[in-house]
Amino acid sequence: MRHALVFLTLALAAACSSDDGGAGDAVGGAGGVVGGSGGSGGSGTGGSGAAPAGGAAGAGGAAGASGAAGAAGAAGSDAGSSDASPDAPPPVCKCVKGEGPYCAARAAAEAKQKGCVIPALEGHAGDLLKCENDKWSVLEDCKGTCKYTASSAKLDDHCELPICDCFVQVAWCGSGAAKEAAKKGCQIPLLPEHDGDILYCPGGKWSVKQDCALGCVEAPTGTPDSCKSTSSYKLPFDCNSTRSCTNGNHTNTHTGKDEYAYDFGMPIGTSVRAMRSGTVLRTRYPSPPGSACYNTIGSSSCANYANTVEVKHSDGTVGLYMHLSAISVKVGQAVNQGDPLGKSGNSGWSFGPHLHVQVQQNCGIWWCQSIPFKFAEDSTISAGTAVKSQNCP
Ligand SMILES: [Zn+2]
Repeated sequence: MRHALVFLTLALAAACSSDDGGAGDAVGGAGGVVGGSGGSGGSGTGGSGAAPAGGAAGAGGAAGASGAAGAAGAAGSDAGSSDASPDAPPPVCKCVKGEGPYCAARAAAEAKQKGCVIPALEGHAGDLLKCENDKWSVLEDCKGTCKYTASSAKLDDHCELPICDCFVQVAWCGSGAAKEAAKKGCQIPLLPEHDGDILYCPGGKWSVKQDCALGCVEAPTGTPDSCKSTSSYKLPFDCNSTRSCTNGNHTNTHTGKDEYAYDFGMPIGTSVRAMRSGTVLRTRYPSPPGSACYNTIGSSSCANYANTVEVKHSDGTVGLYMHLSAISVKVGQAVNQGDPLGKSGNSGWSFGPHLHVQVQQNCGIWWCQSIPFKFAEDSTISAGTAVKSQNCP
């Protein structure tokens, strides 16, 4: 598994690396001070793909021991017993390069090389797969358009659906247009970057009709969508405290999937507050205090080891809170805006203590394409801006 994660690391590098480049130095001194308290919140659900590798093998072994050949075949997961009888079915593949995403063809190539099988490939030869905790499943129905060539080492596989014919008469919020596109099995080239803007398609060409500083509202059918006049998001730290944005949208390493992220410099152990209400979708706690990626300075091998909380909002978007030292919420828990989620830290690929937040699509794994969002306190926050939280009870 270790070597597999290195590949994922490479893929993540593009987005997360500098991510945090600007954050480190200014606030670095606070580093270890509060680190000890990090343990209290260790309620994470365990890592992404690395930790539970033993689970599947154990199950397979049990089935085999009972002597029920059929059951063993069905379980199919006795990857551990390499010296099984010659007519034993090939083992089910573990995650080869972390969570993915994988075009089915990439997964099939890996499986062939390793002499194992991936049941989720059945009937999904051109779709997008993921692998979580060594379980394979379909991430997205690509209608057969997921393309993979052996030369693409990066795990940035995606569907290549045809461009949608124009279906907008007046004005559609990008996020609403995306839903319609999914229904039609096509894609709109401006998305997800313009999920929060108003789209139209004069002359059949998809275009942005209006940039919405605070995102857009999907109106009921028959009414044109419009820009939002107030933001649903408030700053992710204590009411009345002031922090500096050390890295804004499209600056430093906030590119690619991270392009609409914000970094705020703060010492390890600072309270992290929900920017918007929602439900805890996922927590990851691969780096408890004392582990290699708990408090590092720019170590790329830690890219998949950031402690994170994800909160799913009512519109289906997800708030990602990254580099934490402690987590104080559980999956499925409802949180209100301003509720504590955990403590900030310096875990994963980070260059110094800070909090990285982004609002992203719910793509089925922990790190997805970010989408634009603004804070109610100040819609113009960028690197170097000091901002005071009004995320008050
Ligand atoms: Zn960042």
